[in-house]
Amino acid sequence: MYQIEDIKTVHLEVSSKCNAACPMCLRTVCGGELNKQLPLAEMSLTDIKQIFKPQFIKQLQRIYFCGNYGDPATAKELIEILEYFKSENPKIKLDLFTNGGLRSAKFWHRVGQLTRKVHFSIDGLGDTNHIYRRNTNFAKILDNCASYIMAGGEAVWDYIVFRHNEHQVQEAEALSERMGFKKFVVKKTGRFFSNSKSQGKDEQVVFDKNQNIEYSLQKPIQSRYQNQSLQKEQDLVEKYGSLGKYLDATPIDCRVVKESSLYIDASGHVFPCCWTANQLYPWYFKPKGSSIWKLLDKSGGLDKLNAYHSSLPEILSGDFFQKTLPQSWSCSSINDGKLKACAKTCGQEFNPFTAQFEKNETSPKIALQNPAQP
Ligand code: SF4
Repeated sequence: MYQIEDIKTVHLEVSSKCNAACPMCLRTVCGGELNKQLPLAEMSLTDIKQIFKPQFIKQLQRIYFCGNYGDPATAKELIEILEYFKSENPKIKLDLFTNGGLRSAKFWHRVGQLTRKVHFSIDGLGDTNHIYRRNTNFAKILDNCASYIMAGGEAVWDYIVFRHNEHQVQEAEALSERMGFKKFVVKKTGRFFSNSKSQGKDEQVVFDKNQNIEYSLQKPIQSRYQNQSLQKEQDLVEKYGSLGKYLDATPIDCRVVKESSLYIDASGHVFPCCWTANQLYPWYFKPKGSSIWKLLDKSGGLDKLNAYHSSLPEILSGDFFQKTLPQSWSCSSINDGKLKACAKTCGQEFNPFTAQFEKNETSPKIALQNPAQP
């Protein structure tokens, strides 16, 4: 793959903690109890200084704070961390992705002075946002957004469309314009997909903490809000016999090699991308049951990718990045060792992630989270 001197962008999960419980995020079991396999971790300024040496920060163009599990606003020393990156590289672009429901208006004012852009994930209005963004308060989110905008930050409103909020898209967009958001992004979620069954699904059940079904989330009815890649599933089944057979057959074109980016999770593990890292702790497999663990075993174990124990240059020049993972792309099938996450994300004919942003001018170049629940 690449070497350390090629890296221009880092996707950083500064914390795996979150105030919310979004039902399609693997941090919880369908919005209910916490995923017991997931380590709850956050980075301090000291941790960041250990991983990110000044010379490396200077070569970066962008760090975006997002992650598979956590909200960056849960990191206690987030402001100090942003200040550190800025002090080492004043030109660096610092972007954040958040539900906006944590911390004070004063905190978000300071974030507005330090970041280029914040994506606020707000999936509806006062009567609907909490249906997906469980445990968040809409009024507080808007206060925080307003404070961020007042400080001069470029605010983006990311809106995932479901059946329950598709009637409010225009109203939310108008509100975003009145408040001074720079962009409003309609996201056609690719998460109505079962990773364990390799097939699309029409609804997502939502559990309470005792694993009782509370309600379910439905896809939007209007086709303009539906994920076009998921719509293609039937064509691929006809062409290949099943979606699984398509994943076996498709060539892989690794997007992070082209984008010169890497991913670091809240425990300090370094992966090429969030999609591969997201295979570590799916609650619906037994611990270490997903196929990424086989690749890790072949290359010395997960600890070899831990940036608290090895330097970034050592990790990137090690077996996982240079041999085991790239070789897996040539395996003849998923059973033979090709990573399903790679076939699904970087294959040629099916990409629910990219299709989230189709026809949006504001499509981000680099990814957010992987489709999650089983
Ligand atoms: S999913 Fe695999 S192929 Fe795609 S960017 Fe990540 S490592 Fe590369």
